[in-house]
Amino acid sequence: MNRRSLILGLVALPMVLSLSSCRSSGRSDKLVVVPRSQWAPLGSMPPAKSTPMGSISRITVHHDGIEPITPLETYDQIQSRLQTIRKYHLARGWADIGYHYIIDPRGRVWMGRPLQLQGAHVSGGNDGNIGILLLGNFQFEQPSDEALESLSILIGKLQKKYRIPAGRIYGHCELAVGTECPGHHLKDKMGAIRRKAR
Ligand SMILES: [Zn+2]
Repeated sequence: MNRRSLILGLVALPMVLSLSSCRSSGRSDKLVVVPRSQWAPLGSMPPAKSTPMGSISRITVHHDGIEPITPLETYDQIQSRLQTIRKYHLARGWADIGYHYIIDPRGRVWMGRPLQLQGAHVSGGNDGNIGILLLGNFQFEQPSDEALESLSILIGKLQKKYRIPAGRIYGHCELAVGTECPGHHLKDKMGAIRRKAR
């Protein structure tokens, strides 16, 4: 078991992980988590480009902003989209995909950059900041109910583990000027996401 498999207290398996437990309210907090090894190798991250995460204190939510021209349904389609995003980030000289978690429209959670490394998702604001990407362009489309439910569950788990207050959960545009990310349909839901996170 390596360190990244310990994030969220999960055991890494070669297949999709289906996690199920119940909160005291009876609400399911099941998450399907896809290990990083299922879509891309970690590869070598040049130490100069990989900054340790340090103390985690906040979460930032993003969309990929890609024109909704390709379907995001099958496992292969999601893998392809993730590899496109990762290649784009590598081409910018970054060590790896910039986000720590990626949520697809079916609500599956794909592991991205290892959480012990600082992400690359908010210019000048990556320290202690967990990056969560929802696949889709929410300037034009609504995030799916499944993706929103997984986002809520994931944020709840991360809040509990790292003691992150609801007021430290952001949409990207709340931390940076000149971006519409995470798109106005998701931006409009950030208040509700924070209220649910209290
Ligand atoms: Zn963003």
